[in-house]
Amino acid sequence: MTLNLIEQFYHCPYCAERVSLLVDPSEDSQDLIEDCEVCCRPVCFAIQVSDQGDVDLQVRREDD
Ligand SMILES: [Zn+2]
Repeated sequence: MTLNLIEQFYHCPYCAERVSLLVDPSEDSQDLIEDCEVCCRPVCFAIQVSDQGDVDLQVRREDD
């Protein structure tokens, strides 16, 4: 099995820096928490991957 990760860019909801996240498109719906690589605060992601492989990435603060 080959992993074909897609790099997605987002703006951190805490520090507003542009950061990238590697998304695994083999799962069509994912919720995960990753620390921002700039400010190290926990960012919540809601990821949807369409049948065409388009990635929709929503970000929010953990305390929202
Ligand atoms: Zn940040």
